[in-house]
Amino acid sequence: MIGKRQKGMIITEVWSMDRADRIFSNYIRLRADWKCENCGKNFENNKGQLHNSHFWSRVRMSTRFDPDNCMAVCWHCHFFKLEKEKQGIYRDLMIKRLGNEHYNTLRIKSNTLQNKRESIKEFMALMRVDPLAKMAIRYQDNGIKRRNS
Ligand SMILES: [Zn+2]
Repeated sequence: MIGKRQKGMIITEVWSMDRADRIFSNYIRLRADWKCENCGKNFENNKGQLHNSHFWSRVRMSTRFDPDNCMAVCWHCHFFKLEKEKQGIYRDLMIKRLGNEHYNTLRIKSNTLQNKRESIKEFMALMRVDPLAKMAIRYQDNGIKRRNS
């Protein structure tokens, strides 16, 4: 989708929110090597049960596609552990991963308003330079058949 050529001009299309979300989810789960980043269980053969969990809600566009705001977790850890304890266990886990200073930077960023199109464009720019991105995009385009992610 990016860089489609027409008469020598590069046309850059902005991904739909759905496409961006799916590629981002693949990216986060690939980064974790298809393992739950909370309990360590491997979901290589059961990819749909591994989720991309957002610490600061997906509603917040400024951090919706920020890899530092997300981790791959299994449905069990996601809904029974982390989501229930967002300002407890989950926050402690984030501080441990990011360090205090970066955790605070992320918190401030999450409270900054950003429009959808800009956040998708920023994400697309990140994907252009990240080595894992090609794989994440390929997974999306090949469907991860019967997509349940
Ligand atoms: Zn888990």
